[in-house]
Amino acid sequence: MAEHMAQIPFLDLRAAYLAIQPEIDAAVQRVMASGWYIQGPEVEAFENAYAAYCGAAHCVGVANGLDALILSLRALNIGPGDEVIVPSHTFVATWLAVSAVGATPIPVEPNAQTYNVDPALVVAAITPRTRGIIAVHLYGQPADLDPLLEIAEAYKLALIEDAAQAHGATYKGRRVGAHGDVVCWSFYPGKNLGALGDGGAITTNREDIAEKVRVLGNYGSSKKYVNDEQGTNSRLDPIQAAILAAKLEHLDDWTKRRRDIAGRYSDALQGVITPVVPNWAEPVWHLYVIQHPKRDVLMAKLADEGISTLIHYPIAPHRQKAYAELAYAPGAFPLAERLADDMLSLPIGPQMPEAHVERVIETVNRVAPTL
Ligand SMILES: *Cc1c(COP(=O)(O)O)cnc(C)c1O
Repeated sequence: MAEHMAQIPFLDLRAAYLAIQPEIDAAVQRVMASGWYIQGPEVEAFENAYAAYCGAAHCVGVANGLDALILSLRALNIGPGDEVIVPSHTFVATWLAVSAVGATPIPVEPNAQTYNVDPALVVAAITPRTRGIIAVHLYGQPADLDPLLEIAEAYKLALIEDAAQAHGATYKGRRVGAHGDVVCWSFYPGKNLGALGDGGAITTNREDIAEKVRVLGNYGSSKKYVNDEQGTNSRLDPIQAAILAAKLEHLDDWTKRRRDIAGRYSDALQGVITPVVPNWAEPVWHLYVIQHPKRDVLMAKLADEGISTLIHYPIAPHRQKAYAELAYAPGAFPLAERLADDMLSLPIGPQMPEAHVERVIETVNRVAPTL
């Protein structure tokens, strides 16, 4: 790396804190001084604000995004012997949730343009054991929900949305958050709405599911020391809830900046494949992912010039050792495998300085076409 060039981080979480430090500090102080450290008014206030933001009737805070998925599947009574259709190309947590309840993840290849699950292939994967479909709004771009809702209705399946990367994204003009039976959120620090620690939630219009997730996440108890279910402890921390409520006020501004950067990239980048956005989708650009057949060389050259990039994700879930039991051979899901080889995520974030955007564009355009 040349001396004069500052490192361009992939995402600057400290800058995100400093941007609204007085608000976050005040939120944390308020909780500390309140004497109320589990559940209570701060969690309730955030749940109400986030439900309203998503256009959902209910929001229930949980400990993290993976728990949001697991508790949703449990609330839908999905378990051993059941099959759940999942994308072959996703973060492994989508699959882990299915395995955690004892059900089997059934992978389906994505649409090669949008990277989200292909509804036509979903139908082909349905068997008498299928109980649900998990649609992932990958990289912040909503999956094609209308055909998935039709399939779910026709085959009596639950539609679960993994929206961990899609806070504020819209599908046909309406925010993601209540299209399917239940929508699962992560507030992991690097997500578009991120806590300063772990956090998660579900949103839904179904009162039965909201109630069941709340009970399951609180030891299976709706009344203290009375246990109706073998639940677990998975609750949103009040300090994180207060921080998230403060951050939610800024989410749309931050999304706008992400959209500006994505627009600049898509207009200017050369020698790489840039993302395709269907006309019904308004993505929130959790990640800006390009493809290049010599991805590893490109990544190394960008690193030499001080530009940090990441791969989402380098190994498809069916090729992970964790899923050796499913015995999928190499090539079983060729599109997911190719994407794992070719994809590269460029720096993007609400606090990314303009000069960094320009340098990423200039460097990619100088390097990528020559590889
Ligand atoms: C981050 C993420 C999760 C898991 O969320 P955690 O809060 O880290 O448990 C699940 N699915 C997707 C698509 C994610 O990006």
